Amino acid sequence: MSTVALATLGFKVNQCESAYLEEKLTQADFLIRPFTAKADLYCINTCAVTSRAAMQSRQLIRRALRQNPEAEVVVMGCYSQIAAEEIAAIPGVTYILGTTEKLALLDYIARPEQDQPPCVHLNDVRTAPAPQPLVFSGFSHRTRAFLKVQDGCDAFCSYCIVPYARGRSRSINLESVLGQVARFLDRGYQEVVLTGIHLGQWGLDFKPRQDLIDLLRSIIEHCPPDRLRLSSLEPGEITSDLLELIANEPSLCPHLHIPLQSGDATILSRMNRHYHPDFYRELVLEATQRIPNLAVGADVLVGFPGETDECFQNSYRLIESLPIAYLHVFPYSPRPTTPAATMSAQVSPSVIRLRCGLLRELDQAKRLTFLQRFLGEMRQVLVENRRDEASSMQCGFTDNYLPVLVPADSALENQVVMARLDRLEGTKLVAIPV
Ligand code: SF4
Repeated sequence: MSTVALATLGFKVNQCESAYLEEKLTQADFLIRPFTAKADLYCINTCAVTSRAAMQSRQLIRRALRQNPEAEVVVMGCYSQIAAEEIAAIPGVTYILGTTEKLALLDYIARPEQDQPPCVHLNDVRTAPAPQPLVFSGFSHRTRAFLKVQDGCDAFCSYCIVPYARGRSRSINLESVLGQVARFLDRGYQEVVLTGIHLGQWGLDFKPRQDLIDLLRSIIEHCPPDRLRLSSLEPGEITSDLLELIANEPSLCPHLHIPLQSGDATILSRMNRHYHPDFYRELVLEATQRIPNLAVGADVLVGFPGETDECFQNSYRLIESLPIAYLHVFPYSPRPTTPAATMSAQVSPSVIRLRCGLLRELDQAKRLTFLQRFLGEMRQVLVENRRDEASSMQCGFTDNYLPVLVPADSALENQVVMARLDRLEGTKLVAIPV
């Protein structure tokens, strides 16, 4: 029996695709090994969204080759799609597969190639067909099921390489999505997280058009999970109807992740992001007012070209003033082929580091404020199969995305339990099931 080790970087969509591939490899009689072990085949599902992710992709390739110089090494995904030559320059790589080809991994490794390695298989993503629905039973190490419902993006934010790596926005049809949700429910998943590269564009490429609300209503009508969570949604895509649905539908988690990227109007315009900071402010205030206990998360991109101290202060003050539960802070790095990479007034790495540090401190303060708000309350917790390293307690999340620790009890794994949020432990709440 051959052994295979898989590593995955990047978005939830990548995690979902890797879980699908892992299942296909197992069905093809491969034995799954941790990536730190010696294996016959290494598959690296890469990311290219930041220069750091690209560097981590290269590090994983080199690590695989060190662990077993005789192994076949498949490098696939976004970094393969945009930087195949860089990967081909690393001696020992066997296959380079693009973002659409990676799902046919088994076909490639099953048939002998005529050419000298690396064998490169890349399609033009601009003409990529509708994404292949991922039919699989679940995740080997996750309690929550991520479901890819959409691929690609039409927004072309000026800093972002994703539309070049993933192509135009294409949706997975409703029937396939419902089938996969039902499959997850049959396997006992309590929470399904809808993900996409640009989730809010789901259905807009269909004729006749559909939209995210249609998708949510259909899932709720036909196969409602205990919890249905949405991953990231762009500010302009969070409509009044969506807020109403989340506020009134118990299975929809009160949690919105809304990328801000910058709180400065000039920078947002240079980013090719079509909203004003005031719009974002009003949206967050309206959402938190209409949906009780809502958690709002935000992405911020720090040090975009032209970001002066004043622009940064505008971002900082906006975030500080809003009831945001947590931040994801990303340092800007120029990505090849994007308009921002050649813009004037690039910000120095030391200034970017300093500003990231300030926002990460603000993030910690925001997290604590949000957690403290719920101390002593009763909330539903999904107990996961992961353990917290420091305390050995089990990890979990409330419906509104409060990270919790539950006293270890394997009988509670994958159960939604009512728990009292007893005390703070670092940036998590200790939840006592009642
Ligand atoms: S919305 Fe903007 S940041 Fe998000 S994937 Fe599309 S281009 Fe990139």
